[in-house]
Amino acid sequence: MKKLSSANYKDVNYCLRCGHKLELKTDSENKLRPHCSACNWVYYKNPIPAVAIVLFNENNELLLVKRRNEPKAGFWALPSGYMEINLTPEENAIQELEEETGLKGKIMHCVGWYYGDSPIYERILSIGFRMQVIGGKLQAGDDAEEAKFYPLYNLPVIAFDAHRDFISKEIATHQVNLEACR
Ligand SMILES: [Zn+2]
Repeated sequence: MKKLSSANYKDVNYCLRCGHKLELKTDSENKLRPHCSACNWVYYKNPIPAVAIVLFNENNELLLVKRRNEPKAGFWALPSGYMEINLTPEENAIQELEEETGLKGKIMHCVGWYYGDSPIYERILSIGFRMQVIGGKLQAGDDAEEAKFYPLYNLPVIAFDAHRDFISKEIATHQVNLEACR
């Protein structure tokens, strides 16, 4: 296992609580962490949790959004977003779906999780949810340029490894009827 090093904290300089300069120190478990000598705050750097939504319509077409913002602006991806502190993973997925696509949905099951790299946050832990539509009207919102259903035989390049993983897992394990797409 790789040890925590100063490289893990290259952009971490000041205390979030009091603004004092942070110093790297090893803690009682011999792990290197930025520490504030003024207020004793310690910065624990963790992977960022995110949610992504796998949703098919009645024709087994997959819901995708064209990303407006970086990372991967202009690419297609599952509706997705970073988790907010005030919402559960399921609530996050329901909110992201509505914000990005106008559709109201409910959770069917958890597809799984995917741990991967991020150009912005280094590491992301994504949780995939299979959802179904219970209302709303398909319409791209906030950070999506477009939102539409794609037939599985004609999917565009998908922006993220995590999303490709969730899509293939869901197709493989939950028997989306591929016959209907041919
Ligand atoms: Zn401080």
